[in-house]
Amino acid sequence: MDIFLSGTNAVTEDGKLFNVDASGNRVGAMFVGPKKTIVVAGVNKIVKDLEAAEKPVREWAAPQNAKRLNRKTPCVETGVCGDCSSPDRICNIYVTLGKKPSRTDVAVILVGENLGI
Ligand code: SF4
Repeated sequence: MDIFLSGTNAVTEDGKLFNVDASGNRVGAMFVGPKKTIVVAGVNKIVKDLEAAEKPVREWAAPQNAKRLNRKTPCVETGVCGDCSSPDRICNIYVTLGKKPSRTDVAVILVGENLGI
């Protein structure tokens, strides 16, 4: 694959990407395989640091995504993360990209508006 286009869950102010994935297919494809990965993110994805990155994912994005994907998880019912053990859980793999992977070029395009959840 030459180019993989993706969003991201968070971009830290010091340039790290943070992503939470269910099966790993998205984060795996972001960093292993393509010659170039292009990540497009709205300003709403910028967070101060890695500590601040997980909170909006667990409190907002993951419950919204679970609902969108019609998962049977507690957060779909309550709207908040219960750190579930459901077979339908979507928050299984936490990946931080600290620097450019050795075999994949990564470009991050920040868009000056809110994009995605
Ligand atoms: S851990 Fe479970 S309850 Fe929490 S956001 Fe993820 S899927 Fe929802």
